[in-house]
Amino acid sequence: MTLDGKIAVVTGGSRGIGRAICLRLARMGATVVVNYVSRPDAAEATVASIKETGGNAAAYQFDVADTEQVQAAIKKILTDFGRVDILVNNAGITRDGLIAMMKEQAWDEVIDTNLKGAFNCIKAVSRPMMKQRWGRIVSITSVIGFAGNAGQANYAAAKAGMVGLTRSVAKELASRGVTVNGIAPGYIDTDMTKELSEEVTEKIKAEIPMNSLGTVEDVAAAVAYLVSEEARYVTGQFIHVNGGMFMG
Ligand code: NAP
Repeated sequence: MTLDGKIAVVTGGSRGIGRAICLRLARMGATVVVNYVSRPDAAEATVASIKETGGNAAAYQFDVADTEQVQAAIKKILTDFGRVDILVNNAGITRDGLIAMMKEQAWDEVIDTNLKGAFNCIKAVSRPMMKQRWGRIVSITSVIGFAGNAGQANYAAAKAGMVGLTRSVAKELASRGVTVNGIAPGYIDTDMTKELSEEVTEKIKAEIPMNSLGTVEDVAAAVAYLVSEEARYVTGQFIHVNGGMFMG
């Protein structure tokens, strides 16, 4: 599976799952735009790792929740690279809390980053992808968007919203050679899950048939398939990468 000559934009590519996706797509031959919001050091480290292995990459700072920043960034990327072939909506945050205690700000921040962020980026690349009659959009949702989770109503709503967004846009863009799919990871070992206490992590593991958290590479491998030429007839679908904890 080669991505030679393709330009890929990975939101939240500086750390965790996004970083692994960047490394994987670069290894397949794509030039990778590593997006980040607050950690230039991490983004530059991802770019450096890609370059060390002979790949092409550049870091671009923008907040996916900010419509104007996204529009300006995609415009600049189109000027700098001439095209965008692949968009991976990976940037995401959590602001957990039980519904009775959840602050409006925690709701808004999660919806704005996770759901509106995906909308902003998809909207910005849709016209150029339609024009070039080829495109791959992959959004990283979550098992929580399918199964729900106490203490994560905002996150579950955003991730479930991404499911409807993905399926709708898949129908809109299918006739133009643009596929739109999602990955629903279970619990993956990253900064996000390092916030969980050891006790919670052990409880989660006990509910996973494979008895372990997933790795960032497990998710990146699924993205690699969906953005490939081989996946041309797959659209509006979700790959669950979760060790068997939820079978959707
Ligand atoms: P992470 O380690 O916390 O990294 C988050 C990434 O998103 C960072 O690169 C961060 O950039 C970026 N980001 C955050 N807000 C942003 C914004 N407003 N604009 C642009 N970039 C932003 O997260 P992760 O665990 O790798 O998760 C990646 C995705 O997978 C998320 O969508 C998450 O919901 C989803 N997911 C994760 C798990 C899991 O178990 N870890 C499970 C299911 C789904 P900076 O470095 O600049 O802060």
